[in-house]
Amino acid sequence: MKRFILLALLISLALTAGVLSASEEIWECPNCGTNIPASADDVEITCPNCGHHLLWFMCDNCMGEFVIDSDWTTAECPFCGSVHELD
Ligand SMILES: [Zn+2]
Ligand SMILES: [Zn+2]
Repeated sequence: MKRFILLALLISLALTAGVLSASEEIWECPNCGTNIPASADDVEITCPNCGHHLLWFMCDNCMGEFVIDSDWTTAECPFCGSVHELD
């Protein structure tokens, strides 16, 4: 019985963690370093601290995900070091 309760607790914890990570992410502003909570569906947000327009970016070389400033003309992937030309 005790074992069953522990298992149920673990399952509910896993579900809670899954729901949280699916609905909210933390973006770190590359301009001022502010941590900004954002929806996982967002692909662009404005930093509440410095007002910079930020874009979510996925490296097509290593599939790493990071945040860039929309003013940038190039972005270097922090994971694999490849440089991307931005529009
Ligand atoms: Zn900022
Ligand atoms: Zn990369």
